[in-house]
Amino acid sequence: MCGIVGYIGHNKAIEKVISGLESLEYRGYDSAGIAYLNNNKINIIKEEGKIINLKNKLDLNINSNLAIGHTRWATHGEANKINAHPHQVGKITLVHNGIIENYEEIREKLINEGYKFKSETDSEVAAALIDYYYDKDILKAINKATKEFIGSYALGIIVENDSNLYAVRKTSPLIIGCGKDEYFIASDVPAILKYTNNYIALDDLEICVINDEIKIYNNLKEIKKEVQIYDSDESSITKGHFKHFMLKEIYEQPKVIKKTIESYFNGDINSLLTSFPKLNKYNKIHIVACGSAYHTGLIGKALIEKYADIKVEVYIASEYRYNKVFYDDKTLVILISQSGETADTLAALKKAKQDNIDTLAIVNVYQSSIAREAKYVIYTMAGIEVAVATTKAYSCQISILILITIYLAYKNNKLTKKEINNIYQDMLKLPDILNNLIKKDYTKIAKNIYKHNDIFFIGRGIDYYLSMEGSLKLKEISYINSVSYAAGELKHGTISLIDKNTPVIAISTDNKLYDKTISNIKETKARGAYNILISNIENNEFDNLILIPKFNELLTPLLSVIPLQLLAYEVAKLKDCDIDKPRNLAKSVTVE
Ligand code: GLU
Repeated sequence: MCGIVGYIGHNKAIEKVISGLESLEYRGYDSAGIAYLNNNKINIIKEEGKIINLKNKLDLNINSNLAIGHTRWATHGEANKINAHPHQVGKITLVHNGIIENYEEIREKLINEGYKFKSETDSEVAAALIDYYYDKDILKAINKATKEFIGSYALGIIVENDSNLYAVRKTSPLIIGCGKDEYFIASDVPAILKYTNNYIALDDLEICVINDEIKIYNNLKEIKKEVQIYDSDESSITKGHFKHFMLKEIYEQPKVIKKTIESYFNGDINSLLTSFPKLNKYNKIHIVACGSAYHTGLIGKALIEKYADIKVEVYIASEYRYNKVFYDDKTLVILISQSGETADTLAALKKAKQDNIDTLAIVNVYQSSIAREAKYVIYTMAGIEVAVATTKAYSCQISILILITIYLAYKNNKLTKKEINNIYQDMLKLPDILNNLIKKDYTKIAKNIYKHNDIFFIGRGIDYYLSMEGSLKLKEISYINSVSYAAGELKHGTISLIDKNTPVIAISTDNKLYDKTISNIKETKARGAYNILISNIENNEFDNLILIPKFNELLTPLLSVIPLQLLAYEVAKLKDCDIDKPRNLAKSVTVE
């Protein structure tokens, strides 16, 4: 959550920080601010709302070679101008991503020392503590203060009468971009791609001092770190001819699913066995994730249990630490996260590591915190996903779970080499099938439902898990209250909510469960519901049918999700919602 960008170089610091923030706006957008050095004076400008409000207040051409900026997703204190970052206390000006959990205690202590606070944020307290410890040596002050912080933070810091840019992190992400005679700090790589592909990933508690060169310290001792090259181009962070990033990303799915599959598997099981980490010994799997990634975990469970005959439990990451979990040395904990920075998932990963349990990360962002902390990592190849509501990263996560299913099913003698090759032949057909589904017209159905306040999604088995994603997508971007329900469970309570014309969207792709799901839809029809059926069996008894092709069952979830994504998109468009940046949300959830 929240985006930090800092710049130090020859000139145009303001323009470069703002352009970086614009590409990070998906991380948070309730207020924004910048601090820049001009004629040896630190100037701070903040605005409520989106970055454009801040940009309109700024002269991008002011002469400045040092600046830090922030786009906020408020955790402590309202989203107003006073709470917006940067915060300045004494000689310290900083931007912060994360939460200082013990800030109240520190605040009390500092008030007793004479400090006064203007904002309600934990971030201002962080600035004050560094100022409190700052005598002559800023490095020591940052080191001492950060040792006292409990929680998560990425900090970009500038100091009065000092020409350096400082950065430090714990749990919240931070990278250093290394351009030609110019350096950046940023919460994520897209912020720097316009200027450079070279970056250093900062690790927990490393402090970085940047001027003409970069120096990194761990416990006040200088260390050397490798510069990495980010393999992507800037085109992934522009909309092209699409009206929204979300639509562009939906359209990218055939390509990125293919790329994800082909990066590990060429139809010969050996390609998968050699490109994936060794998974032979595990007889129990925990999948831990949040939001849409949690939904992919449920689909993974359905597939792995069915095809590979291995027990899988799926957990919401934020609950994982509080449950008593049962695992042993044959348990694999799989963590799924698009950003690889999801704080709840990272905390669950740390718990498993502490208990000496093997961990496997499925993430989209190369070298992200979860990728680096986990024992094994398998990357999805979705490319940069900008829209807050995930689509292509979701599908690529399912693609990896399908490959894991094949791997484990082969190892457990549940699928033969020939059967696996047949699945691959079907995988080759996926791009065409997906493209056809994407090109269908979903606007007519959207027009019939977008004015409703409640919409229900139902399904059985794997289709229930898909309905959860359909419902979440709709809630996220169109703000329509929506519930997903196991179709058979409806009659045990929720059916009381079905009224005349209430939209009920039913998914039925598992043909063994078809008749039962159809009965459940009819139960809602009998109570006046407006029914939409997504199925691979022709049936014209309902108000609308979205027909998807009958296809390999293992791959079918990749098909069924397309109408769900596009329906949510069209409904949100009709409601004129801010589709790429829905209210109250942020893409990379780096707070617990
Ligand atoms: N906790 C800080 C605040 O509420 C930072 C939030 C963020 O990461 O945007 O201002």
